[in-house]
Amino acid sequence: MERRKFLRQAGAGLAVGGLAAPAIVRAQSPQIKWRLASSFPKSLDTIYATAENIAKRVSAGTGGRFQIQVFGPGELVPAFQVLDAVKDGTVEIGHSASYYYVGKDPTFALDTTIPFGMNSRQQAAWMYHGGGLELMREFFREYNIIQFPAGNTGAQMGGWHRKEIKTVKDLKGLKIRIAGMAGQVLAKLGAVPQQLPGGEIYPALEKGTIDAAEWVGPYDDEKLGFQKVAKYYYYPAWWEGGPQLSIYVNIKQWEALPKEFQSVLETACAEANIDMQARYDAKNPAALKRLVAGGAQLRPYPRAVMEACRAATEELYAEISAKNAKFKKVFDAWSKFRDDQRLWFRVAEKGFDDFAALSSQAAARPAPAKAPATKP
Ligand code: CA
Repeated sequence: MERRKFLRQAGAGLAVGGLAAPAIVRAQSPQIKWRLASSFPKSLDTIYATAENIAKRVSAGTGGRFQIQVFGPGELVPAFQVLDAVKDGTVEIGHSASYYYVGKDPTFALDTTIPFGMNSRQQAAWMYHGGGLELMREFFREYNIIQFPAGNTGAQMGGWHRKEIKTVKDLKGLKIRIAGMAGQVLAKLGAVPQQLPGGEIYPALEKGTIDAAEWVGPYDDEKLGFQKVAKYYYYPAWWEGGPQLSIYVNIKQWEALPKEFQSVLETACAEANIDMQARYDAKNPAALKRLVAGGAQLRPYPRAVMEACRAATEELYAEISAKNAKFKKVFDAWSKFRDDQRLWFRVAEKGFDDFAALSSQAAARPAPAKAPATKP
C-alpha cells in the first residue's frame, strides 16, 4: 500500500519533472571553475585583457556555470611555463604565444607566426579554412593540449634600438630581446638574441643587459616604457607579420566539458581573435603619434638588412626541415598556402592599399590655388 502510494507520487513527480526539464538540466549542470595562466603582462589591456574577455564571455554564455579565473605571469606559473602547466594539468587552460616554445620544438612557432610569414588575415584563413588548425592540433595533441586561435596583434614594429642599424654588420654582437624563431635567424647574422617575457623587457633594456628589444607595437610599447630608454623605433618586424596568440586547454579537461560549454568557449576564442586585432588597430595610430611627438625616431630596417635576414631565414627553414619531420609536414603545407595568399593579396588588397595610402597623402596636402580664369 505504502509502496503503491510512493510509486504514484514518484510517477506524478516524473510527469511534472518532464515539463520542467530545462530547469532540472540547468540545476544539474556542473559548476565548473578553471584557472587560466597567461604569459602576458597584467598591465596590458590588449594582450592580457583578451583572456579576461574570454572568461567574461564564457561566464555570461553559460549563466555563470562555467567560471574561468585569469592569472598573470608568476601568479601560478612563470610566463614561459604556461604550455607545460596546461600539458601537466597544473592549470586547465592557458593563454600564450606558441612561438615561446620553439626550444621544445620549432613546430610550435607555426601556431603563432614565423619570419617572413603571413599577415593576420592570412593566418586566420590558414587556421580556420586552410587546414592549419587541423595540422597544429595533431601536433599539440602530443602535449595533451587542444588549442584555439585567440588573438592577433597584426604586423608588429621591429623594436627599440639604442643605436641605429645601418648595415648587416651592425647586427653583430647586438643583444636583442626577440620572440620566436627570429632569434635563430639573427644569431646566424651575429646577433645575441634573448627571449624574455614581456614584463621583464624594460628592466633589461634600462640596465643595458640588452641593447634592443621588440614587443608588439606603439600602444603596448608605450605602456611598457621602451621609449624612455631607447630612441630608434624600427619597422617592420619581418618576423611577425601577423602573430596569433592561442588558448590552450588540457585535452582531458576539454573532453570532460559539456558540449554546450565547449561551444561557448570556442566561440569566445573566435571573438577574441577578431577583437584583439581590432583593439590594436584602433589604439596604435594615436600611440605612434604620441611616441614620435615625444622624440622616438622612426627608422625602416635597411633593404640590405631585410634581404640578409630573409636569406638567413630560408637557410634556417631548410636546416630545420631536414632534421624535423613534424616541422616539415606543417611547414610545407603552410608555405604553399602562404605563397597562394601572397599571389591573391597582390591583386585586390595591395592594389587597394597602395592607392588608399597615396590618396590619404594627397588629402593631407593643401589643395593647389585655383588658376585665374583666362580667355581661351
Ligand atoms: Ca614581438
